[in-house]
Amino acid sequence: MKPYPNVSFEDTAVAFAYKSDADLRKANFIFSLVNHPWISAMATGFVEISLKAGLPIEGIIKKTAFDHFCGGESIEKSEAVINLLAKFHVGTILDYSVEGEKSERGFDSTRDEILRTIERAHHSQNIPFCVFKVTGLASGDLLEKINSNEPLDEQEKAAFERVRLRVDTICSKAHAYGVPILIDAEETWIQQPIDQLADEMMARYNRAGAIVYNTYQMYRTTSMDNLTHDYEDAEKRQYFLGAKLVRGAYMEKERKRAEDMNYPSPIHPDKAATDKAFNDALDFCVDRLHRVHVMCGSHNEYSNELLARRMTEKKLSLDDPRVWFAQLYGMSDNISFNLAKAGYNVVKYVPYGPVRSVMPYLLRRAQENTSVAGQSSRELTFIRKELRRRKR
Ligand SMILES: Cc1cc2nc3c(=O)[nH]c(=O)nc-3n(C[C@H](O)[C@H](O)[C@H](O)COP(=O)(O)OP(=O)(O)OC[C@H]3O[C@@H](n4cnc5c(N)ncnc54)[C@H](O)[C@@H]3O)c2cc1C
Repeated sequence: MKPYPNVSFEDTAVAFAYKSDADLRKANFIFSLVNHPWISAMATGFVEISLKAGLPIEGIIKKTAFDHFCGGESIEKSEAVINLLAKFHVGTILDYSVEGEKSERGFDSTRDEILRTIERAHHSQNIPFCVFKVTGLASGDLLEKINSNEPLDEQEKAAFERVRLRVDTICSKAHAYGVPILIDAEETWIQQPIDQLADEMMARYNRAGAIVYNTYQMYRTTSMDNLTHDYEDAEKRQYFLGAKLVRGAYMEKERKRAEDMNYPSPIHPDKAATDKAFNDALDFCVDRLHRVHVMCGSHNEYSNELLARRMTEKKLSLDDPRVWFAQLYGMSDNISFNLAKAGYNVVKYVPYGPVRSVMPYLLRRAQENTSVAGQSSRELTFIRKELRRRKR
């Protein structure tokens, strides 16, 4: 299946035009490393132990994995990447990737940083969306308690009101500045309050268009029903539904917890079922663009091609503002840059933050590229093909 106009995800000259030979050799080194599960496990283990022991390895990480997968240590230091992507018509989503904030002060300071990303995105065509995770603004324990319908004491109720206010402050600024904002999806045992906040914000701020987008993890057996329900609610209450579709990042963790705690896994039983759900959800959204604005957050070539083809079938212009393609910085450039060159709306999540704080994100990328069959070897095939092409 090929979208029209004929986009080739195999065109490595387009995919890596933004990378120097040295950058490409670095990418080759990184993906060769994570391609071997045991080398990857040893390297990530070494990094974790070294950081805990206070060994000075941040410089090495900064020059390798960090530079490949991240924009910089701050918004200002990410400017070069923002401008570089923009040269190739690829937008940036500044993803403040500092994880593990646990205090009220930490939550407030994360909120302030997200507000800074919205200020930076204001009036900038190069930053078409902003993003945040609710766990940057709220205690995971509190979210889990709400998710499991346990009664909250007065202090906890007040704490959740502060969470709601932080989320509202962010969404209200995004609305005032006309900058769409994505709310990432997280683990199932904390997701219900995240969905609840997202629904509340969408009903409030999506009256004239989609400003707030919630995320649907299509590896969950309940996601298609949730998407249908949210669409019906948006129709009934006359607001726009912003839907970022992803397959889902926490499969192993979800399955292990379900097994350990003896409840049915919330994840589809196999990859084919997740793929079907994801592609059905794309169709569902594209059939309802009068009410739903959609972002396809995926590195899966078939799903990206499917969306592009559906746009052609529906005679949509390639840059229809209701449809976006999104990938992570440092991954699947063959999809992002070829789609962008053809004229589709494409954005990359560009994580940023101090090297040490971004480590959990980097370790997840290493694990994902190792555990998802074929992902790193596919990246490697393209990188090596381009290195060979440049030698000729
Ligand atoms: C722009 C962007 C934003 C994202 N935001 C989020 C987010 O907010 N929350 C989040 O959780 N993730 C998020 N992700 C990550 C995403 O959920 C996936 O983990 C990742 O993109 C891999 O899926 P894929 O569609 O790219 O492609 P593929 O490589 O085709 O699919 C891999 C995915 O399929 C699923 N899968 C694999 N094996 C099985 C199996 N045996 N049974 C059932 N399902 C299986 C898993 O979800 C796995 O991650 C985001 C990704 C992108 C690109």
